[in-house]
Amino acid sequence: MNSYDVAVIGSGPGGYVAAIRCAQLGMKTAIIEKYSTLGGTCLNVGCIPSKALLDSSHHYEDAVKHFEDHGIDIPGEIKVNLEKMVARKQSVVDQTTGGIDFLMKKNNIDVYQGVGSFKDATHIVISGEKEEEIEAKNTIIATGSKPSSLPFISIDKERVITSTEALKLKEVPKHLIVIGGGVIGLELGQVYKRLGAEVTVVEYMDRIIPTMDSGLSKELNKVLKKQKFTINTSHKVKSVERVGDEVVVKADNKKGEEVELRGDYCLVSVGRRPFTDGLNAEAAGVKITDRGQIEVNDHLQTNASNIYAIGDVVKGAMLAHKAEEEGVFVAETIAGQKPHIDYNLIPGVVYTWPEVAAVGQTEEQLKDKGVAYKVGQFPMRALGRSRASMDLDGFVKILADKSTDEILGVHMIGARAADMIAEAVVAMEYRASAEDVSRMSHAHPTFTEAIKEAALAATDDRALHV
Ligand code: FAD
Ligand code: NAD
Repeated sequence: MNSYDVAVIGSGPGGYVAAIRCAQLGMKTAIIEKYSTLGGTCLNVGCIPSKALLDSSHHYEDAVKHFEDHGIDIPGEIKVNLEKMVARKQSVVDQTTGGIDFLMKKNNIDVYQGVGSFKDATHIVISGEKEEEIEAKNTIIATGSKPSSLPFISIDKERVITSTEALKLKEVPKHLIVIGGGVIGLELGQVYKRLGAEVTVVEYMDRIIPTMDSGLSKELNKVLKKQKFTINTSHKVKSVERVGDEVVVKADNKKGEEVELRGDYCLVSVGRRPFTDGLNAEAAGVKITDRGQIEVNDHLQTNASNIYAIGDVVKGAMLAHKAEEEGVFVAETIAGQKPHIDYNLIPGVVYTWPEVAAVGQTEEQLKDKGVAYKVGQFPMRALGRSRASMDLDGFVKILADKSTDEILGVHMIGARAADMIAEAVVAMEYRASAEDVSRMSHAHPTFTEAIKEAALAATDDRALHV
């Protein structure tokens, strides 16, 4: 039987990063993955394929709607070749997952394909093509998550679908009904809206992206409506039925009236649930919470002291970069180091266009905690860079402590916000004040000038260009 210092179960961004860091620290490491490709949800059916389709559909929309304004005439009809678009997405996925195979080899990590199940706290049985057993001094559970649904919905994977099927449709829906106005619903909704579908979003809460700052929800709602999305907030879905090639969704609106929607596809994107099926966690004495998450302490250690858990299967935001940080954290903890993660500084991004990105506290959170804060906000449309690229929507908002001027939260919506948020993370990591950021030179013309201007607005209400 092969013996390891560390076995990692699951090869998503949490698991494969943990395995690499363990190997870097000199530990003999194995990784177990039930699917034939490494990379988990993120690389196979999550972050990477969704961004590939967002990019392709964005190019199409630009060609149809914006090239003419830039003085580019395309003779003839511009058409979507969905089969080719989906094939390109798959080749991006294949290259990316292939890269993980390379990294495992480079770091001398043994890869086992099959479902990993605990026999006890130090032995794992792997059921793949053949059954194998390995011994591990330490184990890191990184089994991720799966789409969740509502009790009355039957996902048939043809017309009533999750994100996994939405990434490989064979036709552009005529009318896509999206249940859940969160990250997945809006990102994938925007892909098909750009490709020509009518898109109706049905959201239970009173605003889309309800966990983000309400200013971002409001602005994104405005922009998506301009893009001709239909958005129904405060709607409680009560039934979803497939009738032939149609899907009929019934919901109660705010006034309690029944609303009926008919579409040809319905994307159910109401969140994801932690995944522990087949793990046999009980055999190792590992506790699972009522919410289905693996229970961990502040060191991400389960109640079995040699078993740790990270990523979507534990508490916290279900984000690839959060899982990666936790992978490194646990590897270093096992190696006897004292690592640290500041969960307040894990940014959140929605890759719609304009992009939405945030880090730190929202206005709602600061109000709830009774923190005295000031706001500096700057509109993207006031920038030369925005006019040059015709990306006028959005703003940057900086929330700073009223007395110390320390930045407590940065919330932005606009072109390239996903990349710009990194500046806010750096500033907050070093506990910068709004004035610190306002005194740093930002290249002109760039979208990042909006951060400097918002910082100026927060410092002394002295933005220069509004
Ligand atoms: P996962 O990536 O879910 O990996 C878990 C792995 O464990 C899987 O490969 C699974 O097969 C394997 N496994 C499970 N049980 C066993 C077992 N018993 N034995 C062996 N193997 C097992 N996050 C972002 O930060 N940015 C984004 O842009 C983004 N976009 C997304 C888009 C979509 C459509 C979706 C669905 C998700 C997106 N996410 C995004 C979320 C991101 O994918 C997850 O947060 C991330 O993948 C979690 O990583 P993980 O390692 O915890 O688990
Ligand atoms: P989400 O939590 O972002 O959004 C779910 C939405 O569904 C929420 O707005 C919620 O209020 C709504 N909802 C819940 N129950 C409902 C009901 N009965 N009727 C109508 N609406 C209902 O979840 P998601 O969009 O499914 O994404 C799952 C996870 O994947 C998220 O945690 C997210 O972090 C991650 N993800 C991240 C990215 C990214 O980082 N860009 C992209 C995709 C997914």
